[in-house]
Amino acid sequence: MKKKRMRNKKNISVKAHKKRKHGIMDKEKAAQNVSPVVKKYWFQRYNLFSKYDKGIKMDEEGWYSVTPEQIAIRHALRCVAAIAKPKPVVIDCFAGVGGNAIQFARMCCSVVAIDIDPKRLELAINNAKIYGVQHCIDFIVGDFFQLAPSLKGDIVFLAPPWGGPSYKSIENFTLDFLKPRDGFTIFQFAQAITPNIIMFLPRNVDLQQVEELSWLSSPPLEVED
Ligand code: SAH
Repeated sequence: MKKKRMRNKKNISVKAHKKRKHGIMDKEKAAQNVSPVVKKYWFQRYNLFSKYDKGIKMDEEGWYSVTPEQIAIRHALRCVAAIAKPKPVVIDCFAGVGGNAIQFARMCCSVVAIDIDPKRLELAINNAKIYGVQHCIDFIVGDFFQLAPSLKGDIVFLAPPWGGPSYKSIENFTLDFLKPRDGFTIFQFAQAITPNIIMFLPRNVDLQQVEELSWLSSPPLEVED
């Protein structure tokens, strides 16, 4: 009896070992299946979405442009703190695969998530389902600049494209590097909706220009690190 139990134990540990080995092999295979551009981001996948293994879906632009989860949580906390209102409406004007929209929804915001790319917005819907917050988000396929005059909300969140991963090599990232229009234009479209605007910009952004941008608001917006 004793012998049998020991054998079972051994079998279990062999199985666990095989499973672990398979797990590692599956991950190596998955890493080989992603493009060289994506690989670097794929290794960061749990920083991007902690529930990555539950079925998160991304496309190439989604990989390099999604806001990492902890940063998106900070953005959402900041929004909630700024608006003393139980269920503020946040408009995420460049929603991508949903990194920010999901965290706004998790903080009890009502979210309008806009993206011009219908396929990417499908990925955002999938990802919001994984976090169980799809019912708090209205997904709209469209061009922010065309939609802006008809949008209503308490906070506008702007995370426009930074022009791809090469943005890091720019020493002084001026606001005209932003896509699809320069930062001043994007900001002015947002101002027509609400004075409560959060704009997510890269670290290497030209700070002088950001200050000028903040002067477009009265009182000027705060610049935060
Ligand atoms: N914050 C997002 C990433 C945004 S990436 C996240 O965490 O997932 C920027 C997104 O802006 C891209 O998905 C791109 O398709 C979208 N976009 C570009 N031009 C746009 C426009 N004119 N209107 C709306 N979305 C646009």
